[in-house]
Amino acid sequence: MASFHPPCFHTTIIISCVVFILFFSPALSLQEPVLLLSNETHLDADDSEVRKTELFPEILRDEAVGRLNELGQVSDANGYLERTFLSHASVRAAKLISKWMEDAGLTTWVDSMGNVHGRVGGANPSSKALLIGSHLDTVIDAGKFDGSLGIVSALSALKVLHVNGRLRKLRQPVEVIAFSDEEGVRFQSTFLGSGAIAGILPVSSLHIRDKSDVTVQGALEDKSIEINEDALSHLKYDPESVSAYIEVHIEQGPVLESVGLPLGVVKGIAGQTRLKVTVKGSQGHAGTVPMSMRQDPMPAAAELIVLLESLCRYPENFISQNGQCDASVVDSLKGSLVCTVGEISSWPSASNVIPGQVTFTVDIRAMDDMGRAAIIYELSNRMYQVCDRRSVSCLIEPKHDANAVICDTGLSTQLKSAAYAAVKKMAGEDISDVPVLMSGAGHDAMAMSHLTKVGMLFVRCRGGISHSPEEHVLDDDVWAAGLAILSFLETQM
Ligand SMILES: [Zn+2]
Repeated sequence: MASFHPPCFHTTIIISCVVFILFFSPALSLQEPVLLLSNETHLDADDSEVRKTELFPEILRDEAVGRLNELGQVSDANGYLERTFLSHASVRAAKLISKWMEDAGLTTWVDSMGNVHGRVGGANPSSKALLIGSHLDTVIDAGKFDGSLGIVSALSALKVLHVNGRLRKLRQPVEVIAFSDEEGVRFQSTFLGSGAIAGILPVSSLHIRDKSDVTVQGALEDKSIEINEDALSHLKYDPESVSAYIEVHIEQGPVLESVGLPLGVVKGIAGQTRLKVTVKGSQGHAGTVPMSMRQDPMPAAAELIVLLESLCRYPENFISQNGQCDASVVDSLKGSLVCTVGEISSWPSASNVIPGQVTFTVDIRAMDDMGRAAIIYELSNRMYQVCDRRSVSCLIEPKHDANAVICDTGLSTQLKSAAYAAVKKMAGEDISDVPVLMSGAGHDAMAMSHLTKVGMLFVRCRGGISHSPEEHVLDDDVWAAGLAILSFLETQM
């Protein structure tokens, strides 16, 4: 039986709460970055035409949307989008991205984990670099914006600077990285690309096997990339060589659409726990065992799942404020805690048999790590009580645990200003404040947070749908994303 310790009596909670207070409290002063003017503006054009030209729609919208469509066709499958780590389509995508990097005036290379890099030195090539990235791999039957949008919007913003002869005015190097693996589809191991650069990828990752029994190392060797322990350690960037990492990504949720704005700033990426719960009862004939004598694990599992839902919907009713956690932790949980049972199975799974065993998964995410630990402690205690009362046995096994990542407050303020400036320029008028959101999904920024401070911008996607061909971002929202990155880069001059 796994044991879960009472959380919340720990100094890190104080630190994380301070970070939260700092993050949420200030009304951010929005300094509008200066926007570039291209050469052909102001010639007898009316105001809206001038404004459009200043916003570089031909690069930031039309070309970017065209590139997203083109990249969306680069697939290993016929009829749907699938691009996994180092597949044929991934290599083709890497070549395409490399070409677009050169088109933006960047120097390019592919590293020994298949990540594609494009870099410009700016005015001070030896100073710390700003990294901008996202992933080029996809899930199976994917949408064309997840990952790709972050790469394409960064490259279109840099291209605007390039065609205006301003790349060299960047006061620090800027490097765009298209990560080779974030979704983890082929090897069931996420962040092979960004993890290597952040230096958190264990050597054992090289020996993970895919369904065809090919190892990560073998897949790289198939593409003539030699990788060993030494080469892997050389992929890690020196933290002293990097100033920050930023990432643009589709929201994969419905909040931006509901508030009617194209961009939002990410305050952090939720921490996650995955559990496997096994409930064992007494297998028997569905017709002959009296109800009073059954030890049926199925209704027990149902009660446990409803308990989980109640706990995650109303954590304040379960976590005592004066005992385990203080009010700020409870507030954080109320605003960010989400739970899901995504998989359930029974044995022997027949309609005329009381099952002997039911197994289900639990996925719990929250911004506050101590609060998440408190929920898991409370959940497991109450689950064991339910199982005792129902005379079934319960085993709760932790399967995965990742701490939350809090985005850097300074970087987030800058990104918020850039998003505000971009949306205001496009709308031609003042807009309401840029929303600040939590990310329930993992991103490369999670891995990169082990290397440097991170910040993220979310872009509205239709219906909040992702990991589906239905995934869609409006052309104008692609434009807004590119314009926000451009505004951000202009503050780096
Ligand atoms: Zn993604």
